[in-house]
Amino acid sequence: MGLIRLLATASLLLLLGDFVATFCYHVPEHVFGKFHSIVHHSPKRSFIRYAIKNRQPIALIDGFFSAFPYFVFIPLLWRVSPGGVAVGLILAELHVIWRHQFSPRYCTPRWLSTICKILGITTPERHLIHHRYANRAFGDIFAFYGKPAELWLKHLRLMKHHWRQALR
Ligand SMILES: [Zn+2]
Ligand SMILES: [Zn+2]
Repeated sequence: MGLIRLLATASLLLLLGDFVATFCYHVPEHVFGKFHSIVHHSPKRSFIRYAIKNRQPIALIDGFFSAFPYFVFIPLLWRVSPGGVAVGLILAELHVIWRHQFSPRYCTPRWLSTICKILGITTPERHLIHHRYANRAFGDIFAFYGKPAELWLKHLRLMKHHWRQALR
């Protein structure tokens, strides 16, 4: 029972965190933001490095917001299972490292690809598509957020276009 509760809490943290990160941060960043595209989509990807090198500490705020969606649910989920929260955060961090394996020699083992496909988890190969073509393959952890995120992206771009027209 304890283990099920722990795993359910960890899964919920990842599902809710990636949902908020995708729809409230990542997609809007590609429409209205600046630093996600120029920092995270560059080969170096470090907000801290970018902020220091370019003397733009404001970029750090952007880096913070990319991680923030995973923290907002901690107080709520902590009451269900503190261990589940810890496992969820560790898995989220490990997935960040793994999904950025962009070496040309890297290839996800077939068994792992199959598990990811069944569970709808983003592989490094899929995430690389997003880094190359910024309007595709959204859903940092869960691939099934990708399609609705593309619709959300189109909608926000249209809204931005209308606002610009209205302000002219
Ligand atoms: Zn990335
Ligand atoms: Zn992006």
